[in-house]
Amino acid sequence: MTTIVIGAGIAGLSAGYHLTQAGREVILLEARDRIGGRVWTNRDFADIPVEFGAELIHGAKISTWEWVEKLGLKTVHWQKTDDSMVRLEDGRWMTMREARETSPEFDITRSWILQDIDEPMSEEDLGTYLKRIGFTDEQLRYVQRSYANAEGEAMDKLNAAAHATVLQSSEDGDFSDHRILDGYDSYYNALADGLDIRLNTVVTEIDWSDDVTVKTADGQTFTGDNAVITVTVGVLKANAIQFTPELPQVKHEALAGIDMGPVMKMVYEFEEPILDRSIGAIYAKDSPPMWWSPSLRRDEDTIVWTAFFSGNYAREMLELGEEKALQKGLETLREEVGNPELTYKQARWVNWPQDEFSRGGYSYCLPGHLDARDKLAQPTPPLYWAGEGAAPLDQVAVVHGAYFTGQRAANEIINGGEL
Ligand SMILES: Cc1cc2nc3c(=O)[nH]c(=O)nc-3n(C[C@H](O)[C@H](O)[C@H](O)COP(=O)(O)OP(=O)(O)OC[C@H]3O[C@@H](n4cnc5c(N)ncnc54)[C@H](O)[C@@H]3O)c2cc1C
Repeated sequence: MTTIVIGAGIAGLSAGYHLTQAGREVILLEARDRIGGRVWTNRDFADIPVEFGAELIHGAKISTWEWVEKLGLKTVHWQKTDDSMVRLEDGRWMTMREARETSPEFDITRSWILQDIDEPMSEEDLGTYLKRIGFTDEQLRYVQRSYANAEGEAMDKLNAAAHATVLQSSEDGDFSDHRILDGYDSYYNALADGLDIRLNTVVTEIDWSDDVTVKTADGQTFTGDNAVITVTVGVLKANAIQFTPELPQVKHEALAGIDMGPVMKMVYEFEEPILDRSIGAIYAKDSPPMWWSPSLRRDEDTIVWTAFFSGNYAREMLELGEEKALQKGLETLREEVGNPELTYKQARWVNWPQDEFSRGGYSYCLPGHLDARDKLAQPTPPLYWAGEGAAPLDQVAVVHGAYFTGQRAANEIINGGEL
């Protein structure tokens, strides 16, 4: 029994790992010249590992920890909802915890606490919903800068019901974030250990009329009993892979209900600390709204800050182009740290929306399409579906969600779905 796994991001590596553990033959076909996909630890930019894609382990009880512990990786903990610095609309600058205590406008924007409030309607977007339940324009701007920016799109595009479901399921309040000091690549390299991975192998056609025959851009053909598709929703929606026969209706319905948010990063290296080194993150008033530092709690002299932005912020930056976008980011940072002379040693952006093998940062569910992810996940043997876009609602757009979907697809192949 051979399974062909398309894509060697976390979902593909997880499928490959779990199938191999069960004694199956697996070949992974990866378009890029590297594994990891949207987890990409860069080791050239600076003297410390800089995460160009996923950066943090979100939560203390998720599967990634099994690997962190097994591999003995060092992590740093940061409670973003308490410890990040935030610039309030009136100009005050304080920690998130202080802001909640002193500013009622800011406090209510903890939109994740939505219990005991009217349920969203199925067609409602997050912005409309929050307005309906009484959020003021000021509060909506806070939500856009923090929660919605992290979710990868503007509030008027996000599915309110999807977010209410997720937020209610995280009632236990585990909003902790952890960075792997050794780099996220320590994790994905371990996952890939011993797997048969063919890099620079761009899949262009999949014939699944009987078994599976996969064709690649450089003219290779691979055959297998089945395949796990882990490419992004963006790649699928762009029809970058031709399926024969045509995918069933349920997959078209799924893809009509999910889109990719434009999520980007800009990374800056500075000669000296730009703030007290205990400050690890900033929610800025201007764009880009979110900043954090991979240098936090490191001993090295290297100082790196990363800007994270999505939705309209990202569209505006894409319009400006890399050089002007980096300058705009610098101006925002100058304002936040109160240093008009601040200048950087080097900087670059990481452009996931225009990356041909990603075509966006991560997926979000459109209003009215709450079941789209389940539809994408449904097995259509001999094709099995994994990847961040097919994750359960409470594990969307995260590394552990992608890992889960790979494990799920492996189990669907091995024993009909029992995890
Ligand atoms: C900027 C950014 C920040 C993020 N931050 C975090 C974070 O802090 N914490 C967190 O948990 N998650 C974060 N995420 C989300 C996380 O990175 C993803 O959920 C996860 O990595 C998705 O894994 P995947 O395997 O589903 O997809 P991918 O990693 O995209 O893997 C799909 C693979 O398929 C390959 N591929 C595409 N087309 C083809 C083709 N035609 N032929 C062969 N191969 C192909 C791609 O090259 C890729 O390697 C972030 C994402 C981004 C973009």
